Amino acid sequence: MRVLVVEDESRMAEALRDGLRAEGYTVDVVNDGRSGLWYARLNDYRVIVLDVMLPGLNGYRVCARLRQEGVTTPILMLTAKDGEYDEIEALDTGADDYLAKPFSYPVLVARLRALVRRGGAGRRPELTAGDLVLDPADHSCRRAGTPVELTPREFAVLECLAERPGEVVAKTAILDQVWENGFEGDPNIVEVYISALRRKIDTPFGRSSIVTVRGSGYRLDARG
Ligand code: CA
Repeated sequence: MRVLVVEDESRMAEALRDGLRAEGYTVDVVNDGRSGLWYARLNDYRVIVLDVMLPGLNGYRVCARLRQEGVTTPILMLTAKDGEYDEIEALDTGADDYLAKPFSYPVLVARLRALVRRGGAGRRPELTAGDLVLDPADHSCRRAGTPVELTPREFAVLECLAERPGEVVAKTAILDQVWENGFEGDPNIVEVYISALRRKIDTPFGRSSIVTVRGSGYRLDARG
């Protein structure tokens, strides 16, 4: 699940990135309004955390611009002070929720979860491939009715395949969707996750639903 954080204060930005990663989100962080606008247009985020006071273009303007352009990604705005004016303005410009600084971290995470559940256009439906069921709302996975425990990143990799059942998904497409922008590690990390997924969703059930397509990528076979 991919999240964009637009925050110029580096300590706050780092804390948000580390905390949200620990919750299993894939986090892109940018430090000014124009980059925020650019990233929000470019990538498909599940939710955007947008600070109000930003260099270049402030959060209100970023939010208003995105809504004008038809971007419906849920936006949680971080308002600078606990003032009514800020909060009303945040909602007026099209934000879905706001949180006044300083905020408590568990509250932020709970608000983000609620926003993701509500989504830009309603709750995201379960993904199914045969008897494999993924629920993006709570990151749960079941095979033939049996719950399967996946780490957040394993879930994200499997979600990538399940969103396009039967289609070959390139390793680079998985990297782009699941790992942060600017990931510079070994792309073979995807194989490690695919192996882990096979051990969890295929082997114990006598299946082989994750198919390696040599030189191309991976395919989730509903009948496999
Ligand atoms: Ca700021």
